[in-house]
Amino acid sequence: MSRYFSSRFSGLTPYVPGEQPQDQQYIKLNTNESPYPPSPAAVEWATAHTRSLNLYSDPECRELREALGQSLGVEPDQIMVTNGSDEVLNFAFMAFCDNENPAVFPDITYGFYPVFAQVNRVPYVEIPLKEDFTVDTDALCAAEGTIFLANPNAPTGILLGLDEIARMAASRPDRVVVVDEAYIDFGGESALKLLDRYDNLLITRTFSKLRALAGGRLGYGVGSPALMQDLNTLRYSTNPYNVNSMTLSMGLAILRDKETVLHNRDSIIRVREETEAELKKRGFLVLPSSTNFVFARTPAMDGASLYQALKAKGVLVRHFTPERIRDFNRITIGTREQMQAFFRVLDEILGGRS
Ligand code: PMP
Repeated sequence: MSRYFSSRFSGLTPYVPGEQPQDQQYIKLNTNESPYPPSPAAVEWATAHTRSLNLYSDPECRELREALGQSLGVEPDQIMVTNGSDEVLNFAFMAFCDNENPAVFPDITYGFYPVFAQVNRVPYVEIPLKEDFTVDTDALCAAEGTIFLANPNAPTGILLGLDEIARMAASRPDRVVVVDEAYIDFGGESALKLLDRYDNLLITRTFSKLRALAGGRLGYGVGSPALMQDLNTLRYSTNPYNVNSMTLSMGLAILRDKETVLHNRDSIIRVREETEAELKKRGFLVLPSSTNFVFARTPAMDGASLYQALKAKGVLVRHFTPERIRDFNRITIGTREQMQAFFRVLDEILGGRS
């Protein structure tokens, strides 16, 4: 730390992103990216349909909001487009939390939430997941503050039903409930259909997972026009050109190419089911996943050792250190070939121990 670093942030522990190794080829199952490339049209549109790069990108992202509105069944003024969904989540912490409205989220969830709370200097309350790693809806409803709920949750992969989300939104109409739907496409029912009933719901979405555009950085928030106005006040006060024009074009191309998206979704779900079955055959406990990853532990080895052993053999998964989940690893669903390679390596490791 330099001696110039503001005392406001000197105690901040930044988010640690999953490894993005540049040195060696790994079978990369650690950051929940798509194993497939984005729609071929995305790459073509990144150049052919992009407004001249000497001009700033459209700060209103009008074309993409219109296309998204049509595909989601909402009005364009209910959408704000951001640089990945991390950005809209950060704006939500800025906009809807303060000393009277702490951020409230499960103790085991997306690791960026406590960091967003800290960087925005707002208090936060962590509500323990239940014994079976499901979200404690009653406790979240009873807590005071702005709820942040990843649904399905990460890293557990467990989905919460829409009636539970509705219960949270109804519990206190004077607070915002943010539903982070980064993984909703892999088997969940979106809270979009609740928007007509609850004007305190904010849904965040991303192109990084199923839509295979993690490197393009494209996300968005959906909610009432008034909530969008609040978020836009912050966006225009930080970076109005937050999404570059190539990414905006790629987003449009991906939205048009529904076929590739559906095909990839089916493949990922199929390979996830095979992966769950194969892990269970080997004695793993696998939490029920509605995402493009599985969260699993084996009685044969502790989580950190398995992570290290896999890495030493060229397979990257994600390990977390908090007590309750340190024996688990989060394994992103890759292609069938990648998963076969994963199991070959896993069997070498586990076979070597018995
Ligand atoms: N929410 C959850 C639960 C995530 O796992 C991620 C991916 N790390 C994000 C949001 C943010 O993804 P992105 O910024 O790429 O949209």
